[in-house]
Order: sequence, then C-alpha cells, then structure tokens
Amino acid sequence: MSDEESVSQDETGLEGDPKADTGQEGHAITVGCHLSTSKGYEAMGKTALSIGANTFAFFTRNPRGGSAKALDPDDAAALVRLCQEHRFGKLVAHAPYTMNLCSAKPDVVEFARQAFAGDIERMESLPGNYLNFHPGSHVKQGVDEGIRLIVEGLNQVLVPGQKTIVLLETMAGKGTEVGRSFEELERILEGVQHDELLGVCLDTCHVNDAGYDVAHHLDDVLDEFDRVIGLDRLRALHVNDSKNPLGAHKDRHEKLGQGTLGLACFQAIVTNPRTLQLPMILETPNELSGYAREIAALRALAAGESLEHAQTLLQTGADGKKTATS
Ligand code: FE
Ligand code: FE
Ligand code: ZN
Repeated sequence: MSDEESVSQDETGLEGDPKADTGQEGHAITVGCHLSTSKGYEAMGKTALSIGANTFAFFTRNPRGGSAKALDPDDAAALVRLCQEHRFGKLVAHAPYTMNLCSAKPDVVEFARQAFAGDIERMESLPGNYLNFHPGSHVKQGVDEGIRLIVEGLNQVLVPGQKTIVLLETMAGKGTEVGRSFEELERILEGVQHDELLGVCLDTCHVNDAGYDVAHHLDDVLDEFDRVIGLDRLRALHVNDSKNPLGAHKDRHEKLGQGTLGLACFQAIVTNPRTLQLPMILETPNELSGYAREIAALRALAAGESLEHAQTLLQTGADGKKTATS
C-alpha cells in the first residue's frame, strides 16, 4: 500500500468518525501527549492521530542515557507530510534530562552543548517546530553561575536562521533547578544574543510546585508572566496535574483532575484567550488510552462542555465504554 493510499484512508476514517470531530465546534485546540520514538517519526504521527491528538512531544534522544539514534530523513519527511495533511500544530520535542548546561563538571557541560547542538540539527529535518529543555541544575554553584553557564551554552549552540525555536521550561524548583521563577527565565532570555530563537514552555505542574497559583488564579499568573517575561514568549504548555501542594518544589505529575490543580484549572486554560491557541502537551502518568480520554476531555471543555461532561469522558472515554481504572 502506498503512502498516498494510507493517507486518504485515514482521512476518510476521520470524516466518518464522530469522536474525531470532538473539538471542531468552539475552539479547536492543539493538544497531544508525550510519545515514544521507538517505532520512528511517522509512527508517532499515526499514534497521535489514533488518540485524537494534533500535536505531540518526544525525546530527541534517550532521556537518561544521552545516545541519539541516526535520523532517517525519509521517516522525518513522512512525518512532516502527515502533520501538514492533518493540520497538526507545532510539535514540542523534549531534550534529555541528562543534558545539564550548568553542571559543575566541565565534561557534563561539554556533553550538554554537543547534544544540544546535535538535537537542534536533527530538529531542522522537522522544520518550524519546538525543542523544549530544562534549563539545568546549578548543583550548589549558585543560581548566578547557573544562569551564566546556561546563557554561554545557548550562545554557543543556537544557529542564526535555524527553523527550530528552543523553549525554556518553567521548573518546579526541585533541588538546585534553574528556572523556578519567571525572573530566572527572563535573566536567561536577556543574556542570549539570538533571543529571537527562544521561547518558554509553561508546565502547569511545575509552576504550581514553584508557587504560582495557576489552579485558582490563571489570569494573575499570566499577568505576572507578561510583566516579567512578556506573553509573546509563551509558546507551549505542558498540561499536567500535580501530586503536590502549591509551592512544594517537588515535580510529581498527576492525571488531569486527580491532583492539586483539578479539572477546572484545565477548563480555564482551554478557554482563556491567552492560552487556548498554544500547543498543549500531556505528560501525565498514563497509557495511550488514558491520554485519549484526557485529550477528549480537554477538547470537550474547549468546546464549552461542562466539567461534569469532561469528568465522564475521563472516566469512560469518548466511545462511552467504561474503562478499568487501577
Ligand atoms: Fe520537562
Ligand atoms: Fe514538563
Ligand atoms: Zn515535571
């Protein structure tokens, strides 16, 4: 079967499938989840389609090890085609956790810079998307030295004219994480020469754990972001509930509606004119079926459905079948 045939079948399937239409009324949001790269790039696009997603996230290399698989240009091109045909929003790739631009160990910093440069180069085969990273942990060197090293690293790896926008992720402030406040992120942005290549990805779990009351005061948090950084920098969201209270500095993600933030927080996000157009990535503790339910619930909320309806979708899925919960 040729690619063209399989694509036209997919489209027919979408048109005839009422649950795939969820979110077409009201605001059609851009939402997806973190997916495994194990079967390649185009396979991730197909998986995203199968769960009602129109964006997704993936690790640019092994998140804990650091080795990178050789890129298959045909596979990358196939994903680019799929994203165009199905009108995906921007993808939000994630750099590995081991990449610490502000480690106290020079060899770790050097590895981080090489890996980062390599990942930007690989992302250029999926042009126009986002590459999100954790700014780093300063490991007792102090936040000033951490920021200095992050800025130095970014100034070394960013390539003028690159098609990939690099996003700094808002962090929970666990340990010595840099990026626990909007002020810290702004200091990094200010120091980077080609700051037109930078944006911010706001993680709802992380900002809650950092002390920003996104659950009850979304607009105040956005005002604060605008005052300190500027809302034009806000390019993507990680939509996660949190297992911990406001300001806990922990970083433990929870399923939507089952944590501190609650479903009303996500209703506010998908209906707020300052956030509803952003790509939203789920990093909740779920299997694919759980992500499909969360995507359906967010689309329903964006379309103006009630919290009760969204809650039902989370429990039973868009197909109305009750799924076993552990
Ligand atoms: Fe992250
Ligand atoms: Fe995140
Ligand atoms: Zn996290």
